[in-house]
Amino acid sequence: MYKCSTMSSFMRLLPLWARAVSALSFPIGTPGVAWGAAEREAWLSSRVVRRSYSDEVLSKLDALHEQFDVRQYGALSHDAERYPLYAVLSRRWSPTKPSVLITGGVHGYETSGVQGAILFLQSKAHTYSDKFNLVVVPCVSPWGYETIQRWNAQAVDPNRSFNPDGEVVQGRSFNPEPATEESSFLIRMLSSLNVSQWTCHIDLHETTDTDATEFMPAKAARDGEQYVAEEIPDGFYLVSDITNPQPEWHAHIIDAVRKVTHIAPADVNGRIIGEPVVQDGVIAIPSPKSIGLCAGVTNAIYATTTEVYPDSMKTDADQCNLAQVAAIEASLDYIINRESTWRQAKGEL
Ligand SMILES: [Zn+2]
Repeated sequence: MYKCSTMSSFMRLLPLWARAVSALSFPIGTPGVAWGAAEREAWLSSRVVRRSYSDEVLSKLDALHEQFDVRQYGALSHDAERYPLYAVLSRRWSPTKPSVLITGGVHGYETSGVQGAILFLQSKAHTYSDKFNLVVVPCVSPWGYETIQRWNAQAVDPNRSFNPDGEVVQGRSFNPEPATEESSFLIRMLSSLNVSQWTCHIDLHETTDTDATEFMPAKAARDGEQYVAEEIPDGFYLVSDITNPQPEWHAHIIDAVRKVTHIAPADVNGRIIGEPVVQDGVIAIPSPKSIGLCAGVTNAIYATTTEVYPDSMKTDADQCNLAQVAAIEASLDYIINRESTWRQAKGEL
């Protein structure tokens, strides 16, 4: 997810005292004191592998070799054999085609980001390969996938690590964090493709109840700050760049996803996760690059972050995967239609 302090529907069911206890109960470190090396080591050594990257991701990518260029672009030094990093590229790459990047698992615990990207590759990507250069990176943070963690093994948020030189604004709940291997390898791989102008980048994310019960309290503990719970939305929404609004494109995506799962409503203040809702199901934030988000890793004309809420009573894991696929399809269909309209206007069709 994009925002740092949230409150899930699960948390909303708890009485205030229980929320307060939960907010204060992260078991590592001293309240009000930022973690040092010992606290980070205590955190790392208490993480547990809970699912298999090899079984749930790598084996599925293996099956795609005939159709796509499945390419290793790095490996995490935490355990290089266990955590190779893979990108899946369409064949018949051409500088005349628009180039599209799909990323999932920048937050490894957000399952439908990973499995939605894989489902797109398995079921739909081939239908777009003639029109686009596709680069799909289904699991940017595989250690986080296996341990169901938001951070990487160094206790850094990969989705704040794409611009480590970005300005840190005190008191802001989202700020750039140091470079990670997860971001550095991806940036290097994208640079090697020599795409001067990207057309589209969709970064697939989720919001989960554990944001409120584990990850945001952990962030507060790590940084020596007070955790303040906030309401999180029940439904799908998109995060747009306030410096590059694409309202028609976002509306097209929301309309398509609405057929698969419900869209998050604005709260009584007209906001979602504290940010202004600029159109149905879409919030606007500062330039993603400025705050180190993966959504700012390219210069794409169309770039957004998807947010699915898998813990909603109104959805399930399969539906969340399908919502991610629907968002990708709608994004690309819009661009195809728009390009066709341009060419018709120029008399090329
Ligand atoms: Zn996320």
